[in-house]
Amino acid sequence: MNYQFHTAEELLTLTKKYAMPIHEVVLRHEMDFSHMTEEQVRERMKKRMGVMKDGILQMREYPKISVSGMSGKATEKIDAFLRHHPHDAAVGETGLRAMLYALATAENNASMGCITAFPTAGSSGIIPGVLFAAQEKYMASDDQLLNALFTASGIGLIIAENATLSGAEGGCQAEVGSATAMAAAAVSEMRGGSPEQCLHAAALALKNMLGLTCDPVGGMVEVPCVKRSALAAVYTLAASDLAIAGIESFIPFDQVLEAMEHIGRLISPKLRETSLGGLAVTATARSVEEKLGITINGANKEGPCGSCAACIPNEV
Ligand code: SF4
Repeated sequence: MNYQFHTAEELLTLTKKYAMPIHEVVLRHEMDFSHMTEEQVRERMKKRMGVMKDGILQMREYPKISVSGMSGKATEKIDAFLRHHPHDAAVGETGLRAMLYALATAENNASMGCITAFPTAGSSGIIPGVLFAAQEKYMASDDQLLNALFTASGIGLIIAENATLSGAEGGCQAEVGSATAMAAAAVSEMRGGSPEQCLHAAALALKNMLGLTCDPVGGMVEVPCVKRSALAAVYTLAASDLAIAGIESFIPFDQVLEAMEHIGRLISPKLRETSLGGLAVTATARSVEEKLGITINGANKEGPCGSCAACIPNEV
């Protein structure tokens, strides 16, 4: 049997051909690709899931401020909010939990803790945020959670092959946007959504992240990355709700990816991880750089120095 897929359309065809959910096709694809047994592949994913859980636990029990001082306090605050006012949250308790787990992961990353870069370090909070919160809400087993991670991986594979997962190449739409698409498909499957609904959830999520720029303050993966991840986690749950309610993305996922790839090439290099534009050149960002003695790429903020590959203008 052949479980190879390169596009969402092909993935969907395989789910129909073998009457399998997305996670199972992805698992078998990985077994073929890695020449590992099902047990080995699942064990490897379990380890990644363990790193996610440990990171969240660590950050909640031993909150750490990052070296720059720009992050490290949000986890504690949202944790206290969840403990004392769970019913006050406008986004509901599940949304609050999704933000908590996303923040804990992202702040742990910012303070050099161990994370699973799923799909990248900057966006690493979104998938655990969404899936751990959903696991509690829908009382899913650890096996279901593991399956959801395979579903997320399948969407990530398609994105990596047809567009990019790199903020330096495609802007933050490629990192945080991709993570929302991966998580939206995964949580939709965990909730019993069909493969079609999972792909609509992914398309709905990614479509509304198109054009998102990467402009980290001081070149560090903290601002806007950490809090953006918390908000993206809640937004992902909303995308899944739309799909589960039967709302479809007018543009299919593969075409959303084409658009993302094209938009990535149109985004100025100043807004693709070089910290030469956007939030990274605000007065607050400049004062942080000054305080920490940071020089970005040896360039002044008027324009790129031209010595770094990321700054070489792309052909459109
Ligand atoms: S702003 Fe840039 S560094 Fe931060 S998460 Fe987005 S792509 Fe990654």
